[in-house]
Amino acid sequence: MRSRLSAENFETWLAPIAWGGCDDGKLLLRIPNKFYADWIRTHYLDLMLELLRDKSGVRNLDVSWEVDERLAVELKKQEPVRPSAPPPASTVRSSEPARIQANLNPKYHFESFVVGPSNQLAHAASIAAASSPGSRYNPLFIYGGVGLGKTHLVNAIGHRVLQDKPNARILYVSAERFTNEFIAALQNHKMDEFRNLYRNLCDVLLMDDIQFLAGRDQTMEEFFHTFNALYHSDKQIVVSSDVYPQQMKAMEERLISRFQWGMVADIQAPELDTRIAIVKKKAEQERIDLPDEVAHFLAETVQSNVRELEGTLLRLAVKAELMKRPLDLVFAREALRGSQPRRESVTTVDDIQRAVCEYYNIRMADLKSHRRHRSVAQPRMIAMYLCRQRLNTSYTELGDRFGGKDHTTVMSAVRKIESRILSQDAEVLASVQAIAHRLDRT
Ligand code: ADP
Ligand code: MG
Repeated sequence: MRSRLSAENFETWLAPIAWGGCDDGKLLLRIPNKFYADWIRTHYLDLMLELLRDKSGVRNLDVSWEVDERLAVELKKQEPVRPSAPPPASTVRSSEPARIQANLNPKYHFESFVVGPSNQLAHAASIAAASSPGSRYNPLFIYGGVGLGKTHLVNAIGHRVLQDKPNARILYVSAERFTNEFIAALQNHKMDEFRNLYRNLCDVLLMDDIQFLAGRDQTMEEFFHTFNALYHSDKQIVVSSDVYPQQMKAMEERLISRFQWGMVADIQAPELDTRIAIVKKKAEQERIDLPDEVAHFLAETVQSNVRELEGTLLRLAVKAELMKRPLDLVFAREALRGSQPRRESVTTVDDIQRAVCEYYNIRMADLKSHRRHRSVAQPRMIAMYLCRQRLNTSYTELGDRFGGKDHTTVMSAVRKIESRILSQDAEVLASVQAIAHRLDRT
């Protein structure tokens, strides 16, 4: 297509696209962000298909897209475009270390991760695991909904370990890729190589989206042995999932119990302030000039998850640039018309108290009383913790709302639950989760 397009358009729109494979006349193209798919579909797809049909002789070709954020990073690294030089002869190393490719996403560092009440725990645990890998927080299990930062944190751990120990052998792999590699190794009689890589040549294993293994018995079995081999040689294991370990159906019990040996940390959806901070950070990273009021507007409008928020910001910025319009509130409103700003989550202290009472089957009066019996003290502490975590209500106000208690009482209750969670108290974890679910449903 190079000969048909201007150099600028080619570099901007076509060059960043990568080949993703071909299946039964369906071509998979990998693109840096969603915006590419729309733009190419409207401007270049016909030409592209015409040329492809011409060259291949295949008549019904179709194209599908897959967003691969790494491409965006490569894109930035490449400019200015230079012809690539052949690697100097000295880079040829012994085959072993060269085989290990960490596969980390260069964008996802701790420095670019915004911390708020919703992800504080997972962030702290990730930092702890990265600073002394293979010790206390091993394995580290991070769970949370889609687009809330699991992959980001998992990668950040890898980067941080490498920063401290440049020779550490880090391996980031999605459970899906692990599965594919495992199957390929089986088929090609390369199991020794596969096992050597995952069990011996790796100091930190970062396994993303482990829920993918559920129901895949053979891969799960393989992972179980990988886990044991690494764990028993004090190698750090980090696992992410979009479900809580105990709720992973069709996941082997013994694997689930392994995950609970270390630390389980959850990520909740970010509240408004955190969302604002995230949009601002992304704008800064992408060099988008973003007025405060627009950041605010975006954070209020897009609440579902961070990936969506980020995508909306980029789309808006590209659109403003193409239309030569300033990225101000008027433009943002216009561009996002249809997606009405929804009100900030309506959860209140009252909602949380009620949900806790329902869950434990106790009376509101007891929750707010001064009784110290465990049957009411524990629910009370959990309710206080949830209020802090979800609403960020001040300790003083919480004291008032819980029947006139001192702010230090509230503070120590919250700390107590936090430390139970950190030490993986199964009962506390399960209750917090179940109550959080109740709140999200209403
Ligand atoms: P998950 O793996 O949980 O589905 P990701 O880690 O892929 O989510 O996050 C989706 C996008 O949102 C990524 O671009 C990530 O950088 C961004 N993101 C999520 N949480 C944060 C955060 N707290 N601070 C900055 N960026 C975030
Ligand atoms: Mg992910």
